[in-house]
Amino acid sequence: MNRTAKKTELINCHICQSYKYKKILTKFEMNLVKCMECGLVYANPILQESELFKRYTDSFFFDEYLPAFKALPTYYDLGAIRSHFFIFLQLIAKFFTPGKRLLDVGCGAGFFLKAAEETGWEAEGVELSSVASKYAKNIVKVKVHEGKLEDLHLPADKFDLVALIDTIEHLRNPLLTLKEINRILTKEGILLIGTPDFDSLSRLLLRESWAVLSPEEHFAIFSHNTLSYIIQKANFRVLGIRNLLQFNPEYTHDKKRLSYYVFKSLNKKLESLKKMEKTQLYEYADIMLIEEKNPKNIQNFNSDLNPARRTKRTIHKWSKKWLRGDTLVAVAKKTNGKKT
Ligand SMILES: [Zn+2]
Repeated sequence: MNRTAKKTELINCHICQSYKYKKILTKFEMNLVKCMECGLVYANPILQESELFKRYTDSFFFDEYLPAFKALPTYYDLGAIRSHFFIFLQLIAKFFTPGKRLLDVGCGAGFFLKAAEETGWEAEGVELSSVASKYAKNIVKVKVHEGKLEDLHLPADKFDLVALIDTIEHLRNPLLTLKEINRILTKEGILLIGTPDFDSLSRLLLRESWAVLSPEEHFAIFSHNTLSYIIQKANFRVLGIRNLLQFNPEYTHDKKRLSYYVFKSLNKKLESLKKMEKTQLYEYADIMLIEEKNPKNIQNFNSDLNPARRTKRTIHKWSKKWLRGDTLVAVAKKTNGKKT
């Protein structure tokens, strides 16, 4: 790819519109900057819209995307898909009643859609890439709208839940897309987001080789605070944001680095620890408390615990300030602009 031929443009912060930023990294001849007002990390200058389609080629889809799901050009394993999306499937089940409609924005090959459909949701997807949309329609056999969400003009108040899984970081204008999602959601509809955490330990260990830091495809990389901020700015009420203590040392641009080997063996050790497994189960349980029907659950959960478990929870909360996994999960509810 001829990188120098890329068309780019300077932008203001996606959330607060500030033009003040400091550069934190240059990679693939592009910059990642941090907004000096709200702290958002974003690509600036950003690739122009016409450049977007160049990334999502057939070879990317067949050589990188499908293998990540252990899928082949004409075959996919629903069991592998279910375990890949385990936490998200558990979460959407919380909000399900028969007849409810789900939209997956940036649905790729439609795997999450298929898994959601199997649990009863009336599911549709939106996907920019034509090769992924075709696969979703012909192989996975799910309903997909090909194009950009904002251009599709889907009906207002149509969906009960909209999912953005590993998508928001790829959006050229994430606030605009969130506002469009707000419009097409039903009253008190649910927004579900899964995205990389800028404050992950992976970034501290792998440094600039961490593949999430990729300004030519990840245009905004969120932290707990900036994700919460953009969600609220799009007129949602945050029901909960959690970081999951899981790492993927393979997600690096430089496997020759010592830090990669150190991280890989550290992660192997961590994964074999019973305590780590317990912590992950604990975090899953905690995530499941993000619930529409009983928002007081989290409070009850705290007060119901005995002192020893309460202390454990406090230690966990404190340690999460620095021991952070790769993924942020957020659940929010449409508020129609009214403060709650
Ligand atoms: Zn900002």
